[in-house]
Amino acid sequence: MSIEMPKKRIAIFGSTGSIGTQSLEVIKANPDAFEVEILTAHNNAELLISQALEFNPNAVNIVNEDKYEMVKSALAGTDIKVFSGELALEELADFDSYDVMIAAIVGFAGLKPTLKAVEKGKVIALANKETLVVAGDIVMQKALENKAPIIPVDSEHSAIFQCLVGESRNPIEKIILTASGGPFLGKKPNFLVNVKRDHALQHPNWSMGAKITVDSATLMNKGLEMIEAKWLFNLKPEQIDVVIHPQSIIHSMVQFEDGSIKAQMGLPDMKLPIQYALGFPQRIKNDFPRLNFKKYPTFNFEEPDYKTFRNLGLAIDALQNGGNKACVLNAANEIAVWAFLKNRIGFLDITAVVEKTMDAISFIKNPTLQEYFESDAEARNFAATLLKL
Ligand code: NDP
Repeated sequence: MSIEMPKKRIAIFGSTGSIGTQSLEVIKANPDAFEVEILTAHNNAELLISQALEFNPNAVNIVNEDKYEMVKSALAGTDIKVFSGELALEELADFDSYDVMIAAIVGFAGLKPTLKAVEKGKVIALANKETLVVAGDIVMQKALENKAPIIPVDSEHSAIFQCLVGESRNPIEKIILTASGGPFLGKKPNFLVNVKRDHALQHPNWSMGAKITVDSATLMNKGLEMIEAKWLFNLKPEQIDVVIHPQSIIHSMVQFEDGSIKAQMGLPDMKLPIQYALGFPQRIKNDFPRLNFKKYPTFNFEEPDYKTFRNLGLAIDALQNGGNKACVLNAANEIAVWAFLKNRIGFLDITAVVEKTMDAISFIKNPTLQEYFESDAEARNFAATLLKL
């Protein structure tokens, strides 16, 4: 394989997760194109250690400080610098020695390090959609000021990004985000009321981390993606459509002003959008399984069931209202999904918690970064109190 580009030094924030481990597979398959500079984990010290020993980064961070000694002693015979704690994430994001940050931490926790990398003008391969959901206006403005390209990893946004290559003079009429519908497509509240964690974690097409898998089952994920798309592609809420496409082959579409629609397709495999983001603007040859249309004789499309999956409506409300609404929605959702994963609340309670929290927290039209942090904290406290956590 010939890859005519200088070797890119990669920092993976969230290397032990679903996106993080798949990113390392892509890097391993392309040693002439990429090398690992930084790896970070939250709790999974064992996996972080084995990744560090295999990929020999400059530095690692284990956020959970109780695991610091374990990582430090396991890497004692190497040159790898070992950091620990939440603040160290920003310290590492501030390093000069990497080119691309793969933002693969889950949730609000990804915002600060990603923002730091944006301020440094780094290339951001963005998986952590919550960064844009919470503070998209500030992040995109800083990206512009610091000339930090943000290349989406989320498959839908990668699809749109790919459809837009070569179209910079052609305004978008609308985008169409596809959604698999998740494991409960077609189900009604009388079924959903009894849904348990393990059932919600069985996604029909994608293998992902626990939080996003539950978000996919409640359709909150699609709502978060609508907000992410607004910021990434500078769209108005009415330019963003969602359609259920259970096969997950069309990853999303762009409709231009002449009515023509471009779609990006492929088998559901996150390694492809990860590799695209890392290689951009170059496509890299690989041996991933190819899509065979004969095995997919039918593509289906349908309207989402907004009445049953009310999270989608709540996210659209946040999208339309702007301000701190999406930040509050995200915080309440993180708390509720966490409680659901711990079997503390039922599936439908997730929506109730998000809705009540959105009603309770004061609206701020143009929040500062500090106000976003405060809204996040306030919403988390409110949701936790509701749940008696
Ligand atoms: P996982 O839960 O699999 O992994 C999350 C990663 O973040 C792990 O490395 C974890 O460390 C780390 N982490 C968790 N909490 C914290 C914290 N408080 N501070 C620092 N690090 C933390 O998630 P995914 O890989 O599935 O998702 C990551 C992001 O990518 C999410 O925003 C998701 O929405 C997005 N995304 C994911 C897709 C997928 O296919 N998985 C598809 C599209 C987007 P540890 O393992 O040590 O706990």
